[in-house]
Amino acid sequence: MMIVMKPTATEDQVQAVIERIESCGARAHASRGEEVTVIGAIGDREHVARLGLEGHEGVEQVVPILKPFKLSSAQLKGGERTVVEVDGRRIGGEHFSLIAGPCTVESRDQTLTAARAVAAGGASLFRGGAYKPRSSPYSFQGLGQEGLRLLAEAKAQTGLPIVTELMDARDLEPVLEVADVIQLGARNMQNYALLAEVGRAGLPVLLKRGLSATLEELLMAAEYILKEGNPNVLLCERGIRTFETAYRFTLDLTAVPVLKELSHLPVIVDPSHAAGRRTLVEPLSLAAAAAGADGIIVEVHPEPDEAICDGPQQLRADEFAEYAEKVERAAAIAGKVLSNTPA
Ligand code: PEP
Ligand code: MN
Repeated sequence: MMIVMKPTATEDQVQAVIERIESCGARAHASRGEEVTVIGAIGDREHVARLGLEGHEGVEQVVPILKPFKLSSAQLKGGERTVVEVDGRRIGGEHFSLIAGPCTVESRDQTLTAARAVAAGGASLFRGGAYKPRSSPYSFQGLGQEGLRLLAEAKAQTGLPIVTELMDARDLEPVLEVADVIQLGARNMQNYALLAEVGRAGLPVLLKRGLSATLEELLMAAEYILKEGNPNVLLCERGIRTFETAYRFTLDLTAVPVLKELSHLPVIVDPSHAAGRRTLVEPLSLAAAAAGADGIIVEVHPEPDEAICDGPQQLRADEFAEYAEKVERAAAIAGKVLSNTPA
């Protein structure tokens, strides 16, 4: 159920409604918009209906949320978009974010060179994996804590906030010390224990769509994070498995407008892992930005031919600035402005 408060409702009235919802064993999630406060009541629908909240002081109306995903549903916010703020950079609404950096942190020189190049080219955030989900257990698994230290150094040098993947809850503490956004990879989209853990950690989360996950499954995964009280979730389309073998995955661009219809959460697109090939990354990025994506996460490496992983799809660092300029123009078609400095 969704309880829409009147624009004139006082904080005491909002609190009274929350207490009433909690009194029947349901959970209340208040989202305080500029105009109105909406309270999501998550629990047994019958119990909540019996509370008679329609007549409560300050309540405008009570509306059932028909979708299985509740806190992520567009309905919950009545058309208002969530804007996630990371170190003053904004993601969502009219703000566009360009997240760039290597697939994995390989060395100090590689990481700092990539970070400086993307910072100079106008990136909003820096990405890089210290813990890597590899298909083969014999492949390089990431530098771990040493990688996190290099990411911290990259942030100190460039000021760019850090996006890095967490694969195992046992690494949460060191990751929290360095990350500004925690990435949950495609392979962990349905690792429900990990989702709940990052939900409790409270840091913004970039949640990637599973290789064969439906949009509803993606939103149900987001629900696990939101349910823990963490409202800062970024949904990420990164390509899905189809019968096509001419490229690595099929970038599902339809997911961009559809996710925005279904949910108030920002939608980020990863053209790199979908494409698997550098030449496809720019056209897919431009299409995603023009389609209204709230951001792009793209792999960039100083020497892609020498990269330890995902070399063929990483943009060359010295080509990033030109690429970024084009993406910024494509985002403008959708009415968005690049947010790459603290507001
Ligand atoms: C990545 O971003 O480095 C990555 C491994 O992506 P995905 O989880 O989408 O495969
Ligand atoms: Mn990669």
